[in-house]
Amino acid sequence: METILVAGAGLVGSLLSIYLARLGHQVQLFDRYPDFREAEAPGGKSINLTLCERGFAALDRVGVGDRVRSISVPCYGRVIHGVDGTLEYQPYGTRREAIHSVSRNHLNRVLLGMALEQPTLDCHFKQKILEVDLHQPSLTLRDLRSGELTELPGDRLFGADGAHSAVRTQMQRTRRFDFTQEYLDQAYKELNVAPAADGGWALEGNAIHIWPRGHYMLIGFPNLDHSFTLSLHMPYEGAAPAFSSVCTPEDLTALFSTSFPDALPLLPNLVADFFGRPEASMITVRCSPWTFEDKVLLIGDAAHAIVPSYGQGANSGFEDCSVLADCILEGGGDWRQVFSRFETQRKPNADAIGDLALEHFHELRDLVGDHEFQLRKKVERRLNELYPDRYVPLYNLISFTNVTYVEALRRERVQRALLDRLMADPGVRERLERGDAEESLDPLLSDLTMETLGQTVAL
Ligand SMILES: Cc1cc2nc3c(=O)[nH]c(=O)nc-3n(C[C@H](O)[C@H](O)[C@H](O)COP(=O)(O)OP(=O)(O)OC[C@H]3O[C@@H](n4cnc5c(N)ncnc54)[C@H](O)[C@@H]3O)c2cc1C
Repeated sequence: METILVAGAGLVGSLLSIYLARLGHQVQLFDRYPDFREAEAPGGKSINLTLCERGFAALDRVGVGDRVRSISVPCYGRVIHGVDGTLEYQPYGTRREAIHSVSRNHLNRVLLGMALEQPTLDCHFKQKILEVDLHQPSLTLRDLRSGELTELPGDRLFGADGAHSAVRTQMQRTRRFDFTQEYLDQAYKELNVAPAADGGWALEGNAIHIWPRGHYMLIGFPNLDHSFTLSLHMPYEGAAPAFSSVCTPEDLTALFSTSFPDALPLLPNLVADFFGRPEASMITVRCSPWTFEDKVLLIGDAAHAIVPSYGQGANSGFEDCSVLADCILEGGGDWRQVFSRFETQRKPNADAIGDLALEHFHELRDLVGDHEFQLRKKVERRLNELYPDRYVPLYNLISFTNVTYVEALRRERVQRALLDRLMADPGVRERLERGDAEESLDPLLSDLTMETLGQTVAL
């Protein structure tokens, strides 16, 4: 039995450890934080996140999916909030597809709880990784309670220690290691909406809420206790509003009264929340290779951190674990081959979702409330209703299927070209602008659509 060291007991490290223990390995899992099952979530990370089909597929494979479903709120669509108080509900799909909003802390507790049920797994908390020896491999850890240093060797080392990975930092010192990191010029702050006075939802419960306002936006996620967590996204500095321009409680109240008037009454602790919390940054990390010989592998955010707009960071990290398990099963004990197969499969997909996430960030912020964008969405919806397996909007490919991110990107380029041509058709545009029913477009869609959809494979 091999001893595998897993650096980081976050979302991906915990799930990975379950997979590795199930595959018959002795797993030693380490994290600098106290036991998440007893302590509150460490600061600096979003309070909740959303999981989708591909994340659940990886969770289901080790039998933890239903435990996670039981602590999540399914969201069947988005509610777009106009400045004038108008609400527009946009369902995610035509078949009641949902993404699931879940507290990061609860999710980590559930995953760690199951990890600790594995007889061949030990988890060590309050152990900070100070040094990494890639050749042995081994970790030098400081016990944050006693200050004691320990060096722990293993047969393999998995770096699941997040976007600022200590394992990756050591790999950066090896020859020909490529690395880039890119911060968005935007940051976010989280604000809390309490449940309504009767204990119900203060906003539509089974939905994500978006207040798109050009270069800034508010986005809300439901929690199990009927509260909401809102994230306010704005640039750090530059044209107002920006974090640098909101300096006093009066500035903040003025911003909300003019830009988010319907949210303001739901936020009695707005000033304390805003000024009591630091703004958090968003980063894209790319690196290569993800492996060091047959000893070390990076996984999850340590290998490919992405901006959160698509809600795919954890989902893709969970998918990593499932793909790695397949590579281990196919590799017959040859770790060099396992690592190489894994990286060959996952790296192009990580790059694809990294690009898509950056694009989607701008779509959410700038376009979701835009007239032209909504007309395009109408045509998309009708195409999807008519050809549900052939025309699948990009968001749905990412969130409600297990199609690889690379294939989703390829299909999206084909579908986008079709949509561009349809939107340029005066007949289609006239009907859309008149507000005709979406079915009225049908006679105008057929030939062109069938020709293009020939390039997609039915799902
Ligand atoms: C605002 C925001 C919203 C997001 N929303 C979503 C979403 O809706 N859906 C989604 O799928 N993803 C989302 N994500 C992304 C998601 O949070 C990450 O992709 C996910 O947490 C990655 O998991 P991980 O285990 O790789 O890294 P992490 O969750 O960062 O875990 C790394 C672990 O390693 C430990 N560690 C780090 N360094 C050391 C060290 N030196 N010594 C010991 N331990 C160490 C840390 O304590 C931590 O526990 C969001 C991210 C942000 C910032």
